[in-house]
Amino acid sequence: MEQDMWQQIEPWMQEIRRKIHRFPELGLETPHTQGIIEEALDFLNIRHRRLITTGVAGIIGEDAQGPAMLLRADMDALPILETTQLPFSSEIPGRMHACGHDTHTAMLLGAAYYLKQHESQLQHPVVLMFQPGEEGPGGALPMIEAGILDDPPVSRAVMVHVDSDLPAGVIGLFSGPAMASPNDFAITVRGRGGHGAHPDKTVDAIVAACAIVQACQTLVSREEDPTDPLVVTFGTICGGYRENVIADTVELTGTIRILSPEHLEKTLARFDSFVSQIAQAYRAQVDIRMQRGYPPLVADPAFTAQVETVLAEQLGQGSVVMLARPSMGAEDFAYIAERVPATNLHVGVVGPNFVTGIHSAGFNPDERALRTGAEAFAAIAMTL
Ligand SMILES: [Zn+2]
Ligand SMILES: [Zn+2]
Repeated sequence: MEQDMWQQIEPWMQEIRRKIHRFPELGLETPHTQGIIEEALDFLNIRHRRLITTGVAGIIGEDAQGPAMLLRADMDALPILETTQLPFSSEIPGRMHACGHDTHTAMLLGAAYYLKQHESQLQHPVVLMFQPGEEGPGGALPMIEAGILDDPPVSRAVMVHVDSDLPAGVIGLFSGPAMASPNDFAITVRGRGGHGAHPDKTVDAIVAACAIVQACQTLVSREEDPTDPLVVTFGTICGGYRENVIADTVELTGTIRILSPEHLEKTLARFDSFVSQIAQAYRAQVDIRMQRGYPPLVADPAFTAQVETVLAEQLGQGSVVMLARPSMGAEDFAYIAERVPATNLHVGVVGPNFVTGIHSAGFNPDERALRTGAEAFAAIAMTL
């Protein structure tokens, strides 16, 4: 009976995934994807509402007692020109579902299909969160502000993401700080220009900028706990006119990625004081603009352990692995994980036709993963 139901759900999910894959949408502008989700929820007779214009919130088991569990999928694509040659390739040049968010949405709809058929057995309501803008500017925080966690009150949350290091059929879990907080910066270093032959009459912005770049490397080597991952990358350095002119201005940009939520504020403050004080030592002025990114994603250890037990029972021991390493990538589900115990299901997508990983033009996840992700979502919602 159960097998029969999944045999119905599987091709339905595949069809939805391919429909979304054909028309990738970027950022918060996902009306076409929203339409596909709403149509599917209507078909399943699941009540839903729009949040932040293009997001969708669905609800199953409204009458069940107890605080709700939230299941989340993201909807947006990337500005990449697809090269897979698949029959359902992107029909919009320069846009592609290269991060697997099309599969996440299909997995959540597949789980919704199953859960709706088992609605009377649910111990608690299940909130379905379909979120745009994960690749930026972020859809999770605006959806929280619009009330996704409040009505009904959510007490636990689970997300899925494809993992191009795991085979299809396998789910990875990570416990604790799992993904980084990315914080992008731009710095303008201002000196006083002049003739290259007379440096004593100038303030050399290039020398000051170089000192800043060098000094900030010691944030990683001398300031952060060596067992806590931190990345300080300067991505661009720009300034100067010609070989015998001392530069008056240099522009630097880069990113600081950190895993530990406890060390985030301290690290950004130390960065600020390094940059300002090194500039001062060289008699230069600086203007620092910090674009704060998502917080680190922390998978709740106790909740993740419960999820591991459920998945091992439902999918089989060999289908669940605990991942040894966190990722310095970022994820805006972190805002939800800051508020309620939460975890991330890393759904393996490597199959026989797999070529390259996520965020690449040839990304081709194995569609057998759709069922694995949907079954995992459903099992967690039914059991925990
Ligand atoms: Zn991505
Ligand atoms: Zn993604």
